[in-house]
Amino acid sequence: MKFINHSMDKCNNCYKCIRACPPKAISIFDSHARIDQDRCISCGECYVACEQGALHIKNVIDHVKEAIASPQKVVVSLSPAFSSAFGVENGEQMVEALKKLGFDVVEEEAVGGDVVAKAYEDYLGSSGKKNIIASTCPSTNYLIEKYHSSLRQYMIPIVSPMIAHGRILRKKYGADSYIVYVGPCLAKKAEAREMQHRGLVKAVLTFVELEDWLKEEGIELESLEGMAFDAVGTHKGRCIPFCIDMEISKKKNFEKNVIAGVDNSEEILRSLENDELEGLFLGIASCDRGCINGTGMPKDDTSYYVRRKRMTDYNRKIKALEEEQKQEQQKEKDLNENQDPLPEVDLSKIIYDQKVELEKYSAEEINETLMVMGKSRKEDQLNCNACGYGTCHAKAESVLRGTSHVNMCLPFMRAKAESLKNVIFDNSPNAIFMVGPDLKVKEFNPSSERIFQIRAEAIKDRDISTIIPSDLFEEVLETRVNLIGRQVEYHQYGVILIVNILYLSKEGILMAIMTDVTSAEKNKKELIRVRENTLNVAQDVIDKQMRVAQEIASLLGETTAETKVTLTKLQNLVVGDRGEER
Ligand code: SF4
Ligand code: SF4
Ligand code: SF4
Repeated sequence: MKFINHSMDKCNNCYKCIRACPPKAISIFDSHARIDQDRCISCGECYVACEQGALHIKNVIDHVKEAIASPQKVVVSLSPAFSSAFGVENGEQMVEALKKLGFDVVEEEAVGGDVVAKAYEDYLGSSGKKNIIASTCPSTNYLIEKYHSSLRQYMIPIVSPMIAHGRILRKKYGADSYIVYVGPCLAKKAEAREMQHRGLVKAVLTFVELEDWLKEEGIELESLEGMAFDAVGTHKGRCIPFCIDMEISKKKNFEKNVIAGVDNSEEILRSLENDELEGLFLGIASCDRGCINGTGMPKDDTSYYVRRKRMTDYNRKIKALEEEQKQEQQKEKDLNENQDPLPEVDLSKIIYDQKVELEKYSAEEINETLMVMGKSRKEDQLNCNACGYGTCHAKAESVLRGTSHVNMCLPFMRAKAESLKNVIFDNSPNAIFMVGPDLKVKEFNPSSERIFQIRAEAIKDRDISTIIPSDLFEEVLETRVNLIGRQVEYHQYGVILIVNILYLSKEGILMAIMTDVTSAEKNKKELIRVRENTLNVAQDVIDKQMRVAQEIASLLGETTAETKVTLTKLQNLVVGDRGEER
């Protein structure tokens, strides 16, 4: 049921998707996301969490466009949550927009919701079950089927409003009609592809996709007059399972509980598994705060409360209209008199057994992995959730399962980096120290202590001018231009240093790295002195030779000339070498 794609080039390894994924079905290796479809509950939380746009919904709009271009009748089942997603004045504007896109028929999903609500009420009154769990949210269904399979017995074996409506639409418009569900729910994409429903709802468009398509076509909802729905449901059908009439179930002492969010539902599901509760009618929406916060809602800044207000305003308006019509027509059954009677459809649903067998690891295996993660001691196990696995123990399990890597642990990597940093800082032969914008010394390594003959504790938080002139530091602070490779002699310490002062803009401090070149400079001076001595000796020899040469010029003329040439060469050589050194 793969409907989420991943772009490696956009992934920044932030692991937000893992943190958001309730069953930890997604894993990230080297910027590559992998979703284990057997574990995935199709909630779409990873897609919502990814702010980098590395996770995106597989495009189905092109298939829908092809259907529209074909002779098929293309029919929309529209989720009631559209009012909260788009804030339209009335549903008619949305109907017109959809028809402009090319859809032939637009019906409210609540048409299916009504028949499901009726079937639920019958079931509640007759099932004889200890507890009952609504099966309207596909993601919750997968959660129970995969992770709480002993509770499958409580799930209502009745299809969701989308599927019920799909079956009605197929009967109404023919088996070759192309049915598209449009709503706030990514999980519906998976539900439509379930084996038992395959081929019924041909495409599921989220409101995110619809919004993009409307933009692409330049359709502005608020500028439209509006067109009537081809069929509408009632208030009850719009908010199933929350508006189920509990009067019937009360006879059986059922108490309605509505929960939103997978994490929030875990506690009650565990209590049911432990057989601690009885008489519950449980409606769980897997999305935090319910379908109006669905994972297929437009990713904009609209707050949940604004969305909820839009929805309640719209529902109130529609409900008032319904009441008006009821009064006018006296009888509720006349409400849909303008609509054809609904075809009878089979509402049964198969509750699958998809139990995920969670791997078990021995304490020894876990402890060994924790040790590799640098977390053998209890106090090192921070359970900070930076990696996305909630606890260090769960992270170790995922490492053993092969779905994560030890390096994904932020504190582990930080400790590793810090210990490396400390090794360099403590063992460098260079003086390394930090100076704040107030020119006070912040850090001072052992080589600094040796060179400047002062203990780190004695200089920390004191002005740098306590040990050396502060002019170079002030210059870098003022200009924000790093000073690189300046040779400075600090006579008071008898040292010559190559000074580098770097401005660390993020931290707003200066880092000084100073290399002691005193010995090298001394050696260089000694070499120059030796060469100068040699030069002087050579000059003496030449001078003496010249004097002797003048005296016996006629006798030794040629030999003297050769000696002069040789000695002059030697002299040039020494002078030349010295020149290069300088
Ligand atoms: S949320 Fe997941 S997919 Fe998105 S950037 Fe972060 S690690 Fe990558
Ligand atoms: S869809 Fe839900 S369960 Fe599946 S990988 Fe994403 S967050 Fe996890
Ligand atoms: S809570 Fe609603 S939107 Fe979210 S997965 Fe369930 S049905 Fe879909």
